[in-house]
Amino acid sequence: MQNLKKFENLERKNKGLINLNPIQTGGKLTKAAKKALVEFGDGYSVYDISPGLELMEMPLIKKFIQEDLPNFLGADIARLTFGAREGIFNVMHSIIKPGDIILVDGNRHYTTITAAERAGLKIVEVPNSEEPEYKINVEDYKNLIKKHKPAMILLTYPDGNYGNLPDAKKLGEIAAEFKTPYLLNCAYSIGRMPISAKDIGADFVIGSCHKSMACSGILGILGINKKWEKTLLRKSKIYSEKEIEFLGSELRGTAIATLMASFPEVSERIQKWIEEVEKAQWFSKEMEKLGLKQLGEKPHQHDLMCFKTEPFYEISKKHSKGRFFLYSELKKRGIAGIMPGLTKMFKLSTFEISKEELEKVIGAFKEILEMNNEK
Ligand SMILES: *Cc1c(COP(=O)(O)O)cnc(C)c1O
Repeated sequence: MQNLKKFENLERKNKGLINLNPIQTGGKLTKAAKKALVEFGDGYSVYDISPGLELMEMPLIKKFIQEDLPNFLGADIARLTFGAREGIFNVMHSIIKPGDIILVDGNRHYTTITAAERAGLKIVEVPNSEEPEYKINVEDYKNLIKKHKPAMILLTYPDGNYGNLPDAKKLGEIAAEFKTPYLLNCAYSIGRMPISAKDIGADFVIGSCHKSMACSGILGILGINKKWEKTLLRKSKIYSEKEIEFLGSELRGTAIATLMASFPEVSERIQKWIEEVEKAQWFSKEMEKLGLKQLGEKPHQHDLMCFKTEPFYEISKKHSKGRFFLYSELKKRGIAGIMPGLTKMFKLSTFEISKEELEKVIGAFKEILEMNNEK
């Protein structure tokens, strides 16, 4: 038990640093959520909100699930899931027979694959355009739909490697033309930028609350078109109110408490998305001035960016710390979130990081390059 006791005094390594880690920038709690986290930290303490009622009967939560979330997603129905990956699985498991084919973009997240494997599905991928932009051209879905007759198509919007935003709306038209169910994976967009399932023409949209909605998680969000209501929300034969696919209820504990506490601010921050995009584009230009090359779409439309950084790789070959030199030099300058050991290529996110902080980041990269070139 000695090791476990240490956790009590364990401090996070990146506390107080500028953290560029893409999986962390959108999940930072708001002040309100931090308060809710402590208040509702005890297991099942959310049952205190309206004593005697089930979660879905509590007026506060009922309105949130039945009105606020569907409005937010531009969807008819919303449900909470055990993370984005579980939501992807819930859809696949409910609407597709094992052995059937799904068509997914080549930039898909690994959880798309694990979910499909768990559901017993066959996977066909739409290739990307490769270096430097790694674009997905949604027109390429057409021929593959004709060839494979998939039971569902899936698009990652944006993908987690390059932050590319393919033409999701155009794919919505293609899905309608071929009458194929369409799932849009918005793990990096719902909670950061405005997303409307209806505008896009997606049957399902999926988000990750601990990644992009200022929530402690583990929680995913699923927007559903009402034509799938009977399939996805099918009820237990024994407990007539309980939905089987969601095992009766997915919304317990600090996950829902922090999601709801942050929700007003998250609803507001998506309105300022254009500022985030401008900041990302400015950052990308500054990086390129240093000889670091942004991969993925240009001009970039998202805060998640991948850079090819050969000059750092050259330095690492001579440096006493080898490929860990960059991590350590950045840390000295108060910057974290670039994966330790990477020098050839890395990704980062500028989401909700101020221009002043980003100037400091650019300054640090510049200094590290100059310092090492002098050697
Ligand atoms: C992070 C991520 C996921 C998984 O999200 P969870 O909520 O942790 O399950 C799925 N897809 C993409 C594109 C992601 O970036």
